[in-house]
Amino acid sequence: MANPKTSTVLTVILAAVLALVMGLYVQLNGEYSAAVSRYEALYEDYSQLQSRYGELERSYSRLAEDYDQLRGRYEDLKKDYEDLRYRYGELRQRYLNLSLKLNSTLVELKELNYVYGLLERNYSRVRAELDRLRAEYGDLARRYTSLSRDYETLSASLERAKALIDELSSLVDLAWPLYDEELITGGFNLAYLSPSSRDLYPFYEWLSDIGWYDAYVSVLNSTLKVPYRVGVLFAECGVENAFYSAEYRAIIMCYDLARRFYGLFVDGAGLSEEDVAEAVLGSLDFVFFHELAHALIDIYDLPITGREEDAADQFATLILLEAERVDALIYTSLWFLLEGDRYLSDLYEIPFWDEHSLEPQRYYNIVCWIYGSDPGSYEWIADALGLPGERAGRCSDEYGQFYESWNVLIAPYVVG
Ligand SMILES: [Zn+2]
Repeated sequence: MANPKTSTVLTVILAAVLALVMGLYVQLNGEYSAAVSRYEALYEDYSQLQSRYGELERSYSRLAEDYDQLRGRYEDLKKDYEDLRYRYGELRQRYLNLSLKLNSTLVELKELNYVYGLLERNYSRVRAELDRLRAEYGDLARRYTSLSRDYETLSASLERAKALIDELSSLVDLAWPLYDEELITGGFNLAYLSPSSRDLYPFYEWLSDIGWYDAYVSVLNSTLKVPYRVGVLFAECGVENAFYSAEYRAIIMCYDLARRFYGLFVDGAGLSEEDVAEAVLGSLDFVFFHELAHALIDIYDLPITGREEDAADQFATLILLEAERVDALIYTSLWFLLEGDRYLSDLYEIPFWDEHSLEPQRYYNIVCWIYGSDPGSYEWIADALGLPGERAGRCSDEYGQFYESWNVLIAPYVVG
């Protein structure tokens, strides 16, 4: 048996060792637990890392695949690039060639442009010329048309003129045996030819009976020096007119014209039988002296300035005024007035041989010259026959001028 006191010390030592061991144990146990939990945490990290490693490995494989693919495509692209580079080289060469050609073409184009400019200017000129020619052609065509019409009218007139000349020559042939054989030195030779138309016969009878023109012709023959025989023939002409024929040296007074005057004065003016005879004779006188003027201009080769027809009218007016035959001139103006009315109202054809002024003009001429020959005495005529004031102012000068010039022209051929 153990002493009690020894047991107690053992117990205390035991207890202390136990407590120490217990404390150590607790400490170790705590450290172990912490290590276990650290291990567990590390293990978890490790698992995570391992799975991420797996993932990364898979990614790596994918990337490697992608890389291979890309590399393949890179190779392809590289090849394409080489091709393109080659083609670029080719194209560049072609571009340079084309540039060169383009430059030379541009030079050519500039030249062509210059030539084109020249041509364009020429074209404008040619075109303007063409337009002008076209307009001229139009004018000419119009003139041609109107000339054709004139030509046709003139041709028809010429035909009529030829027929008239034939007729005139036959009239002169007819009259020739009636010429006065005693007129050796020349002079006017009067003959009345019998008409074949019944309605002209009274005019033939009347004119040959009254001896009016016989008296004129004898005055003319004693007043004027005429170098050859000149016929004064009253005849049927087939036209209402009077003529001087230089070819046949004959004044031809047509009964047809006397008949026309008769008709005009009876129907147009309503004159009495007695007045009609004077009116017809007065107008015939004017016509006779008008034709005589043509005859004298031809015979003496008189230098007439201006229109011969107007000069002939002036001569006839002058002679009738000198012979104090104002009545004849008034009847003549009435004739022109009546013809003028016809001219205005009818399709009155102006005879082709007639180069006279139109009747209304001749009317005012005659009135003007009567008045101009003696304004103091004949103012009433100018008023009564309606001579316009502006014309009246010139009449005295007009009359004075042709009075003077006819006197000068005829003077060398007056007997004595
Ligand atoms: Zn005439």
